[in-house]
Amino acid sequence: WKRSDFPWSAELMAHNRTYFGYSSFRTDQEEIMNATLSNKDVFALMPTGGGKSLCYMLPSLCSAGLTVVISPLVALIQDQIAQLRVANIECGALGSTTDDFERRRILSCLRQSPPGIRLLYVTPEKIANSAFLLSVLDDLNSSNFLARFVIDEAHCVSQWGHDFRKDYKELRVFKMRYPQVPCLVLTATATQRVQEDIVQQLQIKSCVQFKSSFNRKNLRYEVRKKTKSCIEEIRNLIMESCVDRFGNVQTGIIYCFSKFDCEKVSAELNKKFADYRCGKCFACQRNLNRRCQNFRRVVVDFYHAGLEAEQRELVQQKWSNDEVHILCATVAFGMGINKPDVRFVIHYSLSKSLEGYHQEAGRAGRDLKTAICVLFYRFSDYQKLKRLLEESAKEHNAPRSQLENNLESLNGMVSYCENAIECRRSLLLRHFGETFNKGLCKGTCDNCRNNQKSGKTYVTKDVTQDVLNVIAIVRETGQTHSLTHIVDVFRGSKCAKVMRLRHNGVSAFGTGSKWLKTEASRLVQKLVIDGILTEKTQKADNLYQTVTTLLRVCPKAERDLKQGRRKVTLEVIEK
Ligand code: ADP
Repeated sequence: WKRSDFPWSAELMAHNRTYFGYSSFRTDQEEIMNATLSNKDVFALMPTGGGKSLCYMLPSLCSAGLTVVISPLVALIQDQIAQLRVANIECGALGSTTDDFERRRILSCLRQSPPGIRLLYVTPEKIANSAFLLSVLDDLNSSNFLARFVIDEAHCVSQWGHDFRKDYKELRVFKMRYPQVPCLVLTATATQRVQEDIVQQLQIKSCVQFKSSFNRKNLRYEVRKKTKSCIEEIRNLIMESCVDRFGNVQTGIIYCFSKFDCEKVSAELNKKFADYRCGKCFACQRNLNRRCQNFRRVVVDFYHAGLEAEQRELVQQKWSNDEVHILCATVAFGMGINKPDVRFVIHYSLSKSLEGYHQEAGRAGRDLKTAICVLFYRFSDYQKLKRLLEESAKEHNAPRSQLENNLESLNGMVSYCENAIECRRSLLLRHFGETFNKGLCKGTCDNCRNNQKSGKTYVTKDVTQDVLNVIAIVRETGQTHSLTHIVDVFRGSKCAKVMRLRHNGVSAFGTGSKWLKTEASRLVQKLVIDGILTEKTQKADNLYQTVTTLLRVCPKAERDLKQGRRKVTLEVIEK
């Protein structure tokens, strides 16, 4: 599809320049446009920031009829409409918030021939529930003025995806009702399974498929331990890496787990920035009781679903205009945010899946300039999320398979965080079915950087025997102990608790004496993630004790390991 001799090629180029001011196309853009303009159904997988919108905006200018775009969020649609208005392209949106005047304007445009607007945006529920809208489309179709359907954020079609929407399933109506009108299906996040599901659900089996690499070369990935001084670390990180040449802090997002966290992190960061001392300026060096001379006003705010719609819009606007530099937000913020110069995305808590993480982190650096993505991780955040998923499944009576799918996604995310050795890009891209040559990372992730520095390389080692030793310890100590204690017994620690309980007498005591504490913890955590050990939470038996998590053995996994049907491997540094 990469040819420049299609009847529309010259027009595409010219419109790209006049309407959008771009002089070239990004990877796959031209090919996707050629395929959709040839009336093919197209499935295009492009990472966030790849430039999906242009793939339908430009063709809409080369077709006489209407391009109908299905997009999941009103905010996202508004953003696109604003962009199109700036480019002077006739468009409209029908959604629950459209007022009567605008509705009438759009409908009268649609009755003209050719239609008076190029692009019509609708939310999926609008299409699914509106016989009236479908009848308008019928009329357009019979006069050959229905150019194409665009299904944006198509992963919402799939239950296996991380953002399933029931109404997206109804979109199969397009192929059934208008089989000859081409569909352009776009997504930024899809594993192989989700991709197959999308094609199946939307009934576009003979579509042309484009899959761009998910590698975002300009993003630098890092996972850090989440400690008590994490807020200060975040401040320093931003001051060290995200300040422009005038000393101003650049814009970024901090993703938090809950509304409460958003507000807490925002307040604490605001305070930390006010206390900032660079240590280099006159005031700092003389320890004068004056504000640091390198201090710049940094505005931190928060965004979550608990805010009034107006307030949310205001905060988003301010952030887009750089009046707010740092936004502490839940994942409610971001889909469709089209700010090119986001310099950092920090995760104060892990995402629910690697797809989610790739998309959230992917909001950084859309302008292709360097940006940083740092995730602060602690195992207890994983346990919290896991409990939450289980409780929510119980509450909604969700099928077992859905819960298992969610837990599996979460485990993928945790394995990424726990892995302190392999290239982060390799790990992320492997999840999307891509093989990445780790030599190309060139120290743009923390693991490669650390390995480079220490001159070490890693190998994948069979640790099944160590795992059997850990299992023996869990069993012999009565399956009533925490991860930390099991690690202590495994490494042969003579700490007070081990001695008091006489656990130095269990058969596998000290079999892991060669393991570093962090590595042994990683091994046992991996066993929990892989389901070889299961967790049981014990409610606090007094006011001061927090909830403890006890480890038990999964009998089936134990049998499989003992009989050689299952092996466990771990990436370890080559000695
Ligand atoms: P996606 O929807 O895939 O995340 P967008 O369509 O929002 O990405 O595009 C990301 C950014 O790249 C936007 O700022 C857009 O204006 C810009 N962009 C898209 N195509 C091109 C191009 N051919 N040349 C330069 N910039 C582009």
